[in-house]
Amino acid sequence: MTKFEALGLKQSLLNAISDLGFESPSEVQEKAIPILLESETDLVALAQTGTGKTAAFGFPLIQKIDSDSRTTQGLILSPTRELCLQITNELTLYSKYEKGVNVVAIYGGASITDQARQIKRGAQIVVATPGRMKDMIGRGLVDISKIDYCVLDEADEMLNMGFMEDIKDILSNTPKEKSTWLFSATMPKEVAVIAKKFMHSPQEITVGTKNSGATTVQHEYYVVGGRDRYPALKRLADTNPDIFSVIFCRTKRDTQKVAEKLIEDGYNAGALHGDLSQNQRDLVMNSFRKKQIQMLVATDVAARGIDVDDITHVINYQLPDEIETYTHRSGRTGRAGKSGISMVIVTRSELRKIKAIENKIQQDFISKKIPTGMEICEIQLYHLANKIKDTKVNEEVDNYLPAINDVLQGIDREELIKKIVSVEFTRFFNYYNKTKDLNTSDSGDRSERGRSRDGDSRIPADGNVRYFINVGEKDGYDWMSLKDFLRDTVNLGKDDIFKVDVKDSFSFFNTDAAATEAILKTFTEFKVDGRFVNVEVSKNPGGGGGGGGSRGRRDRSRSGGGRDSRDNDRNKGRRRDRSASKGSPSSSSGKRRTKRKSDFF
Ligand code: AMP
Repeated sequence: MTKFEALGLKQSLLNAISDLGFESPSEVQEKAIPILLESETDLVALAQTGTGKTAAFGFPLIQKIDSDSRTTQGLILSPTRELCLQITNELTLYSKYEKGVNVVAIYGGASITDQARQIKRGAQIVVATPGRMKDMIGRGLVDISKIDYCVLDEADEMLNMGFMEDIKDILSNTPKEKSTWLFSATMPKEVAVIAKKFMHSPQEITVGTKNSGATTVQHEYYVVGGRDRYPALKRLADTNPDIFSVIFCRTKRDTQKVAEKLIEDGYNAGALHGDLSQNQRDLVMNSFRKKQIQMLVATDVAARGIDVDDITHVINYQLPDEIETYTHRSGRTGRAGKSGISMVIVTRSELRKIKAIENKIQQDFISKKIPTGMEICEIQLYHLANKIKDTKVNEEVDNYLPAINDVLQGIDREELIKKIVSVEFTRFFNYYNKTKDLNTSDSGDRSERGRSRDGDSRIPADGNVRYFINVGEKDGYDWMSLKDFLRDTVNLGKDDIFKVDVKDSFSFFNTDAAATEAILKTFTEFKVDGRFVNVEVSKNPGGGGGGGGSRGRRDRSRSGGGRDSRDNDRNKGRRRDRSASKGSPSSSSGKRRTKRKSDFF
């Protein structure tokens, strides 16, 4: 494997890299750093966020500037304040062993006088958002007439946000003789226009596939009636107790409304949109980073530059107008080598949009079903049992044990367990008991109904037995390997096991009733690596946890972990968790929803 040493970086930068704990360069770094170090060239790099592109341009830039001079030599334009600050922080860390290197961030929503003062002190590298940069140039507060390097970071996002004219203006204030390095996740024609107009024979590198979403992201869609979007969203959250997600809405008004409803319903949710003050947005983002907010409901513009690496799910509450926007949304998950899931809630009439996105991103979607109420109850119950099992005993409890034993005396173990889990479970049960199925047939050629998620159409509708097994993702299984394990262990045929649904620390699967005896017999006192592997018949014979057709793809649905269960709709406000309500205005913007053009669909 290539090491940073081989890329041509100087020792002081290698020391900083070592302090950062980066062991080997990412693909974009491996490709871009030697090119940028070796020659004065323009560069177009197609790379998603989360690929390490800041370091790909940051290290060469720091190595190339003259730190003895106070002249501004490098300008980095980035779409948002968050990204601007993130880049500045990273560059400051990269240059920790360089003498006299100054990196200054300039962005809207903060004092322009302070920023001008910092520039005046001498900033070899300026990281800026286009709007504030243009403003400062106009007022003569910054001089970029002598820069040698200009980086356009997330160029497609900047142009999406309408910064085309600002960028052109800014670039017209820079010298002709300079190197321009353009980084973009996608290459829409506007970016190509910028590249053509302002760059000279740029070298081109591509990380992953051009115009495609990150391959670590699994794309799923759920077909529901138009009025069921919100209950569907709640079910998706309840099926994934450990969810840490961004939920995208199309308008600020919807964003605010969905966040408020989630907060009322007891979820750890917050809103992020342009009608909030900078201060409110900072509060929400801080809570999200600390995971006090598990569901961040955001508009596309406000979500740009979210620099959080371990988002497990992106949920498209509504699809965006443009496919490029979908790519940006789904790119918020599956970052830094982790896998992620991008879920889309669609109505039947929107299904053609899924097809259009598939064509564009060159990846298939998996058709999934919103879990039924009882499936969610079951998932939550097992999740709760696991949570109890994994809870570390607090020794302080010892002091109170005699009194607690007095209260609980006379209740036997089984009864006690039932009571403990009922404390949480009953809330879910009361809410979901008797709720309707939210799925609408997705009809036509896309329909996968009646098939198992692993694509087996010969499953009988009746006579299925569903099982619970106490191993899951944590034990290294996915649906395929678990199926293989069960088949080999019980000695069953290739198609005898279906609807395999692997969760974090447990799983479900189905067989025909004829196989039940063999399965239960095999898994009596059955151990793997000294640990009991236990199989029980599940009360719910359906497909648990968001099953559905799969078009032969792997299912990596996530669940398990440690989050509290929540109240039902009718229990509004009773159980407010640490929500971001403080950071949100109490009412929505009140603006009318404008009709949008549909460029791609
Ligand atoms: P970026 O694409 O620049 O937003 O980087 C995504 C994340 O990956 C940041 O948190 C970086 O600190 C981290 N990162 C960048 N390069 C490496 C590397 N070579 N090894 C490990 N982490 C990295």
